[in-house]
Amino acid sequence: MSFLELNLHPSILSNLADQGYQSPTPIQAQAIPVAIQGKDLLGIAKTGSGKTASFVLPLLNELVSKAVSERNRQPNVLVLVPTRELAVQVADVFKVFSRNLKHPVKSMAVFGGVSINPQMKAIFGVDILIATPGRLLDLQRSNAVDLSKVKRLVIDEADKMLNLGFKKEMQEIIALLPKKRQNLLFSATLSDQLAGLNSVVLSNPVVIKIEEKVADVELINLSGYFVSDERKGPLLRHLIRAKKMKQVLVFTSSGIKANKVAAKLIKNGIPALPIHGKKSQSARLAALDKFKSGKLQVLVATDLISRGIDIDALPYVINYELPRSPKDFVHRVGRTGRAKSEGLAISFVNREETHHLKVILKKMKRYIDMIDSETLDF
Ligand code: AMP
Repeated sequence: MSFLELNLHPSILSNLADQGYQSPTPIQAQAIPVAIQGKDLLGIAKTGSGKTASFVLPLLNELVSKAVSERNRQPNVLVLVPTRELAVQVADVFKVFSRNLKHPVKSMAVFGGVSINPQMKAIFGVDILIATPGRLLDLQRSNAVDLSKVKRLVIDEADKMLNLGFKKEMQEIIALLPKKRQNLLFSATLSDQLAGLNSVVLSNPVVIKIEEKVADVELINLSGYFVSDERKGPLLRHLIRAKKMKQVLVFTSSGIKANKVAAKLIKNGIPALPIHGKKSQSARLAALDKFKSGKLQVLVATDLISRGIDIDALPYVINYELPRSPKDFVHRVGRTGRAKSEGLAISFVNREETHHLKVILKKMKRYIDMIDSETLDF
């Protein structure tokens, strides 16, 4: 299938070509026509499926041919997201596809953890508002935004939104929206809790379920080393140098450990930054930006960012410590080998973790040929 068949505006098609998107992913092929028809949609799809563009493209398509709206504090589209990182990422996708449109479409992300005043000012004239729930309510209470003219609502990563305890905030926000509106809800999983939310938000939705492509996980090359905790640092440095890794995402199990690993790398002349929940919002964004643009060799992260963060064609992921759940393992290694580019995910495993690794691999239906680091010279 080609994007040409999706009835998208020529200027959006030209932006797609600029981005090198040749054909729609399955969620895009199925969701875009439904969204363009104005129907409600429940999309069960994970990060990496191309779900962001599956709502960004039809929403822009709707606004592109509209006359320039009055400049006010009444966004036409509201996108609710669970985290600041996802807000920034979704806003980036809107910006990329809003280039050179016949009528300019203004999008903006608002999220907590940064000063509210600049956001209050900048909301004026925004057509598409991407927001985390808490900050959106703060802005609404200070009259910086009026949600009574929202025609389209997107809830992205709805399952995560519920897991993070945003149910009450979401209900509060939904009560502020006009009753008549289009709703697009995306979630990686379907749960009973989510079913409760669906029935409140969606009316007669078209349900699109994109099965997880096991093939994608299969594409990722896995390798692993048996290594004691004391030797993990030296092994990491050895691998970065020996494999000439230019961009590598390293996962640790805690923020403290992430700080330690990054500090040790820097001490050894390898540029690295830690990223985790205890870092300020601006530090997190700055580190992520630097890493994404290729200016930072190593990003040391906790599982906080393994979901929802989209880094194109990341060549290497290293599990310095194994994650607790097999699900997190998939999320972590899924940062590599995306969009059909091959990646390598390397796991460091100490003796106590051996059984845990077996459990993870069994769940993934994968096998790793482990290398004993004692046999290596570093
Ligand atoms: P998402 O699931 O929205 O986070 O998207 C995952 C990645 O796939 C992002 O890096 C997108 O830029 C990329 N992507 C999304 N749709 C397409 C497409 N149709 N062709 C190529 N790459 C895509």
